[in-house]
This record gives sequence, C-alpha cells and structure tokens, in this order.
Amino acid sequence: MEEQDKFSLLIVDDEKMNLMVLNRILSAEYNIFTAKSGLEALVRLERVTPDLMLMDILMPGMSGFEVIKKLKASPFTSEIPVIFITGLNSVESEEKGLEMGAVDYITKPFKNTLVRMRVKTHIQMLKNLRTIEKIGLLDPLTEVPNRRNFDKRMEVEFKRAKRDGRRVSFLMIDIDYFKRYNDTYGHLQGDVLLKEVAQLIAAEAKRPADMTVRLGGEEFGVLLPDTSLEAALVVAERARTSIESAVVPVVDTGKGSSVTVSIGVSSILPNQESTSNQLIGLADKCLYEAKNSGRNRIKSSPVN
Ligand SMILES: [Mg+2]
Repeated sequence: MEEQDKFSLLIVDDEKMNLMVLNRILSAEYNIFTAKSGLEALVRLERVTPDLMLMDILMPGMSGFEVIKKLKASPFTSEIPVIFITGLNSVESEEKGLEMGAVDYITKPFKNTLVRMRVKTHIQMLKNLRTIEKIGLLDPLTEVPNRRNFDKRMEVEFKRAKRDGRRVSFLMIDIDYFKRYNDTYGHLQGDVLLKEVAQLIAAEAKRPADMTVRLGGEEFGVLLPDTSLEAALVVAERARTSIESAVVPVVDTGKGSSVTVSIGVSSILPNQESTSNQLIGLADKCLYEAKNSGRNRIKSSPVN
C-alpha cells in the first residue's frame, strides 16, 4: 500500500516500550504518530488529525480520561475514535473509558494478532461510515455538498476563524431566469443546467477548505475560509464569467443569450458575538441587490 493511502494512528503512552511494541505491530499497515504524554498528544493534534487513536489510561500528568474529555469537547477532535490501552483486570477503567466515548479497549500485555484485529475492525467501520457519510452529505442531483453538510462545516470554519482571528467570506449565487429556463426546456434540461452550474462554481472554489453547496432550488453558496473580500470577489467574477461563457442551451431573456448568475458576496472578521447567519444574511441581501440592479452581476459588502 502507498504511504499516502494508509490510515493514520496516533499512539499515546508514557511507556516507551509500549510505543515501540505497538509501532512494531502496526507500522506495516498504518502511518504511526506517537506521543509520550496527554499534553504532547494534544499538541500533536493541532497539526495532524489521525484516523484513530490508541491511548493509555494511566499516564503521569494528564490521564487518558482527561485527554478524551478534552477531545470530545472540541469540534476539531470529537470525531476521532479512541481505543484505550488498559492493564489487565481493570474492568472499571474499561467501563469508564467506554462511557467517556472510547470505541474499544485493548489490554496489556499486547497480543499482536488481537491488537491488529481490533484496529482493523475500527478502521473498517470508519471506512464504511465515511462511505455512508459521503452519500448522505452530497446533493444527489448536482453532486456538490448539501445544506446539512454545509451547515456543519460552516460551524467548524466559523469557530476556527474566531479562534485564529481570520476572515471568512461567502458567496450566494442564483441562476438568472431559471424558472423561464425550466418552462422553456423542461425540468430534465433544468436539472442538467443545475448540475453544470454547480460544477462550474465548484471548479472556481478549489482550495481544500473551500466548499460549494446547493442551498436549494437554483441557489448555491460558496464558503471561503481565510479569504479577504477582494479575493472572494475574484472567485465570484471567475464563476460568473465561466457560467456566462459555458455552452448550454439558452433562453432569450432579451438581454443577450447566455445563462447567467447573480452573486452576493459578504465577508467577516468574526468577533466573539459574530454569527455565521450575519455572513449569510448579508450575502443574501447583496444577491437581492444584484438581482434588482439588472442580474448577471456581483454585489458585495463586508460585515466588518
Ligand atoms: Mg501508563
């Protein structure tokens, strides 16, 4: 298996020997990160997001229980499955661990095949879950993320922006005269247009953190984390022109013969009181302005 296709594990244990043994058992199949304390694990997790964690419970300083409590409280780490490492005969710890959100536990001393199988089981579950999530998080018609997916992501990105003092920008995009298009060409062709427009928008918002969403009907959004208003306007203008020049059947609107979009652009440097609804609401208002002032154009305004 190629290195980049491997799932990654973070192993946390204060005993060097345990780290070595687990590393030896698992390193052929997984990319391994290690940490010798709870604190070191938390520092590690600021830079890497492992697919799965194996964590000792008894560690000096911060115990495994304390670490998992912190992990579960943060949106950046709450989804990482944790397998606890426990000593023999510690049924109470095992129960407590599972209660606190661990997915499983393995006991010391390690039995190689058992460790491999436990980890493999959870990685397999993770793969299944991701497949299901992927299906449930995309709009089936346009194949861009759906509203539910977007809401979750917006929440995370907004928190991140607050924490790091970074700007978030947002585009709200609506196809001009879509109803007329549908009436003229029929709903099936209307669906083809929706898909094409969605893909053209997504092609312009291509950084890993950018997200194009179908908000509903003929309306789309683009979340642009860590992006200035000026940079967001560049993305908006690229999307506008690429749609205008795309080859699709067109309705004569009396204003040329292209399918066009109107776009509202907003941008915010969030403070503690800011909400993502402010950002979205303002983009909506700008979109309304763009529609009212003739369509096929961009209107923008920063929240602050
Ligand atoms: Mg220990």
